[in-house]
Amino acid sequence: MLVAGVDLGGTAVNYTLLNDKEEFLIEGLCEYPARSTEGPKICLQQIADGLKVAVDKAGVSLADVAVVGLDTPGPASATGVLSAKGSTNFVHGDWASFDMCEGLSAVIGKPVVYLNDANAAAMWGHFAIFGTSPTTTSISSIIGTGHGGGIIMNGEVIKGRKGFGGELGHVLIPFHLIPGIEGIDAPCNCGRNGDLESLCSLTAIRRTILPYFLKKYPDHELGKIEDPHKAAYKVRGMAEAGDPMCKTIFQVQARALGLFFDQMVNTFDPDGLIVGGGAVETGPKFQHWFLVEIRIGMGTQREEQADIPIHVMPNGDTAGARGAALEALKVARAKA
Ligand SMILES: [Zn+2]
Repeated sequence: MLVAGVDLGGTAVNYTLLNDKEEFLIEGLCEYPARSTEGPKICLQQIADGLKVAVDKAGVSLADVAVVGLDTPGPASATGVLSAKGSTNFVHGDWASFDMCEGLSAVIGKPVVYLNDANAAAMWGHFAIFGTSPTTTSISSIIGTGHGGGIIMNGEVIKGRKGFGGELGHVLIPFHLIPGIEGIDAPCNCGRNGDLESLCSLTAIRRTILPYFLKKYPDHELGKIEDPHKAAYKVRGMAEAGDPMCKTIFQVQARALGLFFDQMVNTFDPDGLIVGGGAVETGPKFQHWFLVEIRIGMGTQREEQADIPIHVMPNGDTAGARGAALEALKVARAKA
C-alpha cells in the first residue's frame, strides 16, 4: 500500500510517495510544471500527468496508490474548498469555491485529502523531529511571501471550525517591543496592523521594513532599485553577506517571530518550535544567527520552558508534499 503527496505551488507541482512503513520513495524534489493559472480543468489533468511521472520515477504502480494527499496555498476550507473570492494562486474564475478534493479525485479516480500548504509543511516538520509520538505538540512558522504556519497537537493538524486554525501570520504581536523600529506602520493584507505577517514575511520586507530602513540609510544601494519586489528579494542574500541594514531587517523579523513564539510557549507549552520558508534557506551560520535572534526576541522564559528547542524545518523544499503524504497515510490506514 502506498500514498502520494502532491504539493501544488505557484509554478511547480512537487510529488512524493510514501509506503506503509513510513518510508519516502522519492528523495529530493520531483517537480512538474503547475498550470493553475489556466483553471481547474487543465491544472488537475496536469497534476494527474505529473503523478504518473512520479510513480514511474519511484518504480511503483499507480494502482498501488491508495490515497492522494494534496496541499495548496489558501485560503480554502478545512476540506479543500477554495475561497469564493479567489486568491493570488488561483486567479482563474473557475477556481472560485472549487472543491479541490472532489475535483482531483474525479480526474485520478482515487480518494484525495487536503491540507493548506503551511499546515502540510508543519505536519512534516513535526513528524521529522518528533516521529509519530502521539503526545507531542509543535508550532511551525513558515516565512515566505506571506507567513504561514501550523499547530500539530497529538499528531493532528489544528484546522479549526472552518479551516482557519493555525493562521499564525495574522496573530497580532506587541511589535512596539522590537527595538529600532519606532513609529513603524505595519499594515497586513488581512486588514490588521502589526500582526506576525506584517513584520515577518517577504511582503513585510517589501512593503514595510525595507522602506522604513531606507530612510535611515539613504545612500544604500537597494534604494537605487526601482522595483520594490526586486529590492526585497535581495535583502536575504545581502544580510547573509553581512550588509548592516539588511541584517537589521532580518533581526527585526527574528524578533517579531520571537514575540510570537513567546505567545505560543504560554498558550501550548510545546515540545518544539519549527521555522521554515525562504527566510531560513541560507547557510548554517546565518540560520544559527537567526535562531539566536528569535530566542532573544522571546525574552525571558520560565526555567521549565527555557529549553524548548527552535528547529529549522527539515527538507524545506519538499516539506509540503511530505506532509500531504503523511495526512494521506493516516486516511489510508483508517480505511484499511
Ligand atoms: Zn494579517
